[in-house]
Amino acid sequence: MHLFRFSGAARYQLRSFSTTKPSGALRRALLYIPGSSEKMLNKSKTIKADGLIFDLEDSVAIPQKALARQLVANHLRQTVKGPQERIVRINSRESGLAEDDLTALQNISYDTVMLPKTQSAEDVHWLVSRIAPGKNIIALIESGLAIMNIKEIATSHKQLTGLVFAAEDFAASMGIKRSSSLLEMSYARQAVVTAARAYNLDSIDLVCTTYKDLDVLRTESENGASFGYSGKQAIHPTQVEIIQAAYSPSADRIQWAKDLLKLAEAEKRGAFEFRGQMIDAPVLLAARKILDLHKQGLEPVRGLLLGAPGAGKGTQAKKILKRFPDIVILSSGDLLREHMNNGTPLGLKVKDKIAKGELVDDQTMCDLVITTVVDRGYTGKSFLLDGFPRTEAQAKALDQHMSTLGTPLNFVVNLDVPYEVILDRIENRWIHAASGRTYNLTYNPPKVPGKDDATGEPLEKRLDDDVETFKARLNVYDESTIPLRSYYQEQGILKSFSGSTSDIIWPQLEEELDRVH
Ligand code: AMP
Repeated sequence: MHLFRFSGAARYQLRSFSTTKPSGALRRALLYIPGSSEKMLNKSKTIKADGLIFDLEDSVAIPQKALARQLVANHLRQTVKGPQERIVRINSRESGLAEDDLTALQNISYDTVMLPKTQSAEDVHWLVSRIAPGKNIIALIESGLAIMNIKEIATSHKQLTGLVFAAEDFAASMGIKRSSSLLEMSYARQAVVTAARAYNLDSIDLVCTTYKDLDVLRTESENGASFGYSGKQAIHPTQVEIIQAAYSPSADRIQWAKDLLKLAEAEKRGAFEFRGQMIDAPVLLAARKILDLHKQGLEPVRGLLLGAPGAGKGTQAKKILKRFPDIVILSSGDLLREHMNNGTPLGLKVKDKIAKGELVDDQTMCDLVITTVVDRGYTGKSFLLDGFPRTEAQAKALDQHMSTLGTPLNFVVNLDVPYEVILDRIENRWIHAASGRTYNLTYNPPKVPGKDDATGEPLEKRLDDDVETFKARLNVYDESTIPLRSYYQEQGILKSFSGSTSDIIWPQLEEELDRVH
């Protein structure tokens, strides 16, 4: 059921991502999607591969080429880009089909073209002259000649950002048969990854053709990772997770790197011992790389900050921003105030409601917050919303949009502070209005009772710091957020952090954010 009209839905979608591979984006598992299969194209959005390769080449029979071009173009045009890189594998230059493939891709949003049977730098230049400067190129290396020319291919153009080793065609070009040990192609397989590492390109390893045997896939993936490959091609969705795990640092390595870097911070010496190993600069660099790779592989934090008035949401927000500067916190109240201050039509529309402390209607709030999240590109980043959603209807609308974008919420923080504590805090809170300094008679009293420490001026109570008023606010909060909390609890993404002070809550929240971010 659609709860909202969402006049702005189309607007949210098309501006959400830039067209190039974001620098540092991972290419661990790149999954082929046959371009002629409407069913698989539709399914592809939900697959968490690092890249989707919309294939116009080998998985499409010749009579279906025109249909595949049309289906892929329509799919790219009509769907919102999710976090996955959008790659199109065109037909090879020599096939005589590639020009038509590229024509079908004109004015279509995608990130990367994959060029089969790349034999020389000239092949790459041929493609560069036919695509926009912002697009990436990945070259498929699949012949003896390409291996001989690997350096000139790898250094051919800055739009080339990756090399793929394609075993089947390579075996055909060499007149050899692929064996399970892959020994017969070890030279070529290593030549590709060596060239890629030497010239700072991604390297994507061969397809595991025995795709139903996941143990073979695991071994082959770990083997490719040990060669230095950055990822592997996948031909079935079940392969994706195993490949991603093999090309990500293990939990043990991550812990080792974290422990080591913690110790290194405290160490003054250039070289020191850690768990029986001599540590110097290159080892520290390796540990940093492990953590970087680990962080890149994590899903961004897409979440909410829930907490009753007086639960210390502002304090936790400040701490989050300081400790995790790349997490954006977006407050719906601030957004509305921005509109009111700028005198926009929206600001004028909501002014009265806000003055009366009433909620702004769901449609307006959803339009405002979701458009902002999408327009500012937050869907591809880590963000926490503060103050939105406030109703179950808003929550459902947000979910619907985030799912359409392929970026569902995954982290809902609930600050759980007992109400007696909040009320006690309010009762004991005094402020110095001119400076905004706050005192608490229990745990942060002024040096002289009733006087500001810095100026000696009298302290006062904030108008709304009245226990009865506050009780009413807490009740209103509860009424609206109990359903919200159970809604996110059911989804398994609600994380409650309990304690009577911010200093008790923060270390728990910090630890959890550190784990997932
Ligand atoms: P806040 O700063 O979060 O307390 O928000 C200030 C005011 O903006 C609230 O009292 C409401 O009138 C309005 N507001 C903020 N967020 C929402 C929301 N999600 N739904 C409805 N009204 C909101």
